[in-house]
Amino acid sequence: MSLFDKFQPIIDVRAELQSLGIMPFGAVTEKILSATEGIVNGHRVILAGTNNYLGLTFDPECIAAAKTAIEEQGTGTTGSRMANGTFAEHVLLEQELAAFFNRRHAIVFTTGYAATSGMCATLAGPGDTIVLDADSHASIYDGVRLSGADIVRFRHNDVADLEKRLRRLGERLSNTLIIVEGIYSMLGDRSPLREIAELKRRYGGMLLVDEAHSMGMLGEHGRGLAEHAGVEDDVDFIAGTFSKSLGAIGGFCVSNHPELDAVRFATRSYIFTASPSPSVIASTRTALRLLQERPQLREQLWRNARHLYDGLEALGFRISPQVSPVVAVTVEDRGQSIQWWNRLLESGVYVNLVMPPASPGDYSLLRCSVSAAHTSGQIERILAAFAALRGSATPG
Ligand code: PMP
Repeated sequence: MSLFDKFQPIIDVRAELQSLGIMPFGAVTEKILSATEGIVNGHRVILAGTNNYLGLTFDPECIAAAKTAIEEQGTGTTGSRMANGTFAEHVLLEQELAAFFNRRHAIVFTTGYAATSGMCATLAGPGDTIVLDADSHASIYDGVRLSGADIVRFRHNDVADLEKRLRRLGERLSNTLIIVEGIYSMLGDRSPLREIAELKRRYGGMLLVDEAHSMGMLGEHGRGLAEHAGVEDDVDFIAGTFSKSLGAIGGFCVSNHPELDAVRFATRSYIFTASPSPSVIASTRTALRLLQERPQLREQLWRNARHLYDGLEALGFRISPQVSPVVAVTVEDRGQSIQWWNRLLESGVYVNLVMPPASPGDYSLLRCSVSAAHTSGQIERILAAFAALRGSATPG
């Protein structure tokens, strides 16, 4: 018996992949050429498996802001927000996020993971209840486990199942936190937020929505699914990340509850980690401004999403239920998913390979994500690479 015994399944999978000469997990991007192209594991590819939804990672204004911040404030803060790590720009970004979301309060975290897990772990505690969607992201699950609250899961996006579970809680609803996501990261489907908000209004409790994959994508102003569904007033807390539409790293939570400031000083993932570097804050502030100034990025993102979705559907692949910037191709056979992932790479397209238990079922996914920065020619090349997997031509 050894501490390492439990890692044997991982060791076996890695050995199998190595013997095939295929390394999909932790593939090395040897050179990044632009927001949509790079050299991965030795192949020049179109990047179709990033979360660079608005394509802002190479925006000249974001880069200039980051460079200036590095020159003026150095490479890192070397301390926690609670100690020496709160610079004036962290506070400004909090004010800008609060203004963007029309909320009174905001907290900036070092990663999206720290934001979501920290909020879930801290808002509810022993004696409270958390009701969460069964397909929630790992950061939600980790936080929920840490919280010590009673955990109730409802079937993914199943409003009737959620209602049944809320009804059973009775008086315990007054200290219950309901947690859902905007767009789910693996399949690209959305939570039925209008119905969920209606249940919250009827039964009580508080509602936290993780808009990691929907901020910048949905809503007239890009505020996410809560804006798109017209239920922002029912959402108590919005959590999110800077690592997707804003093209950097970091996370946040916004709320109208004045208690958010007390939550800040009780959240361990805020207190016990260094704050985001000045360059990260500077590019994020610029990206947040550009997200608001350039609605055309959102429009282009959806044109690209529709292009990829319709093309993959026409090719006969089993894909996500809704058009979304995340389009996941389901592959039943694990071996085939590995081979297909590799053939895509060799033909110049990088997508994410997702295998159980990271995928929501017992199947694998070739998860594609589109960016506003993709050209229609690049989307055509992605479709041609998928068509070649089937030995069929791209539909005209
Ligand atoms: N929440 C969700 C729903 C996510 O998909 C992710 C990242 N994939 C996170 C939180 C964590 O964000 P980050 O990677 O920026 O730490």
